Amino acid sequence: MRKNSRQILLLFTALCMPVFCGPARAASDADIKAQTEAVQMLSEYLKIDTTNPPGNERLGAEYLAGILRKNGLEAEIFDTTPNRSCVYARLKGTGKKKAIVLLNHIDVVPARAEDWKYPPFGGEIHNGELWGRGALDMKGMGIIELEAMLRLKRSGVKLDRDIIFLATPDEEVGGDKGAKWFKDNKADLLKDAEFLLNEGFHIDTDKDGKILYWGVNVAEKSLLWLKVTAKGDAGHASMPIADSAPNRLVRGLTRLIDAAPNPIILPMVQEYFAKISVNETGKTKEAYADVKKAMDNPELREILLKDKMKGSMLINTVSLTVLKSGYKTNVIPAEAYAELDCRLLPGTDHAKFAEEVKAKLADPSLEVTVIESELATPSSPDTELFAAIKAVAQEEKPGVPVVPVVVQWFTDSHWFRELGLTAYGWEPVEQDPEHIASVHGKNERVSLKGLEDGANRIEKVLLKLSKPQ
Ligand SMILES: [Zn+2]
Repeated sequence: MRKNSRQILLLFTALCMPVFCGPARAASDADIKAQTEAVQMLSEYLKIDTTNPPGNERLGAEYLAGILRKNGLEAEIFDTTPNRSCVYARLKGTGKKKAIVLLNHIDVVPARAEDWKYPPFGGEIHNGELWGRGALDMKGMGIIELEAMLRLKRSGVKLDRDIIFLATPDEEVGGDKGAKWFKDNKADLLKDAEFLLNEGFHIDTDKDGKILYWGVNVAEKSLLWLKVTAKGDAGHASMPIADSAPNRLVRGLTRLIDAAPNPIILPMVQEYFAKISVNETGKTKEAYADVKKAMDNPELREILLKDKMKGSMLINTVSLTVLKSGYKTNVIPAEAYAELDCRLLPGTDHAKFAEEVKAKLADPSLEVTVIESELATPSSPDTELFAAIKAVAQEEKPGVPVVPVVVQWFTDSHWFRELGLTAYGWEPVEQDPEHIASVHGKNERVSLKGLEDGANRIEKVLLKLSKPQ
């Protein structure tokens, strides 16, 4: 998962959180050896420092490949650049159905040891949780996928489809040396695949651990970065220029950021809110039950947009980030510019959106140019894989909502959606707000029970999806 405003917000929340309490005791080697295979594997994996940059994921790749080979699975390592590698392995089925890919990334974001309660590359167990950078994002998920695959291999069951394990480097800075490289150079290895499971969303709980819903990330917002430039006369600041470049830029930006965003209600977003409305009461319940109607009601609209994560599923957003002009207090500069980070819902045309921004700036002398434009395609929630996840959820907890989620952050899923695969971001682990805040924050950790539950859930989904009838 790549860092963005949400993670920064959550990091801030993390700083305000109560200190994790309970007896502090590092697990000895004997303790780790008494744990399940998944816990042992993850503890070792977390000790391998794959902080990106620079990544150095080769060591992580060799570790994963070693486990696969020890268990009789052929694992190939591909170097994308020196010291940065992918791992690819396949559990063969009958081939009656198309393959499914279990994708995960080997790299992690930096961690400052002095900010953490326990060492971020220690792989230590404390109070029923395994601590370390990557425990959730996403070495933990990688191990959950690996464990599910090993269990299926050992069971000897002949599945209807191949299961592909794919671990890649470089996700945290965009995937050019990882998933994109694999897509560009090794797409042949995935040509028989139709589904892909990756990070992206989780089983959402409240702060007391009560499950609210199972979220499946089916789409990500696309990214459009714009630059707005104003040009004008330079002059001495003792004689103001009313329509100077900085003045016009500020006026235009004020009009833009004060303009109300237009709601865009995608059918899958309408469904998401309607399904999770069962967890709410009062006005929030009313707003969630029919977001289309609620967005026309100022009071309900405010409730919906107040929640930054959920609200972002209802509008295209614009954040003013860079503002630059001038070099000396007594000189009126001839140029001023701003940069805007726009996150757009699936289906939004980038060129049209840039025109909308221009119209809201309402000053034809302001020049709008594109800095970067990354498209994102959604995956349909109407598939066998979604149905299998739903079925596993219902067996576990009848009535629990299983909902498609559109998220505003990026994962590597989009590279594979471009290849035509149906890619879902689904981490089958319960996560409360405190644990979500540890992703890209400090004190990242996963519960030992969560690891086991996660492996069980993936294994069940794979069996439902692939077991011969
Ligand atoms: Zn991630």
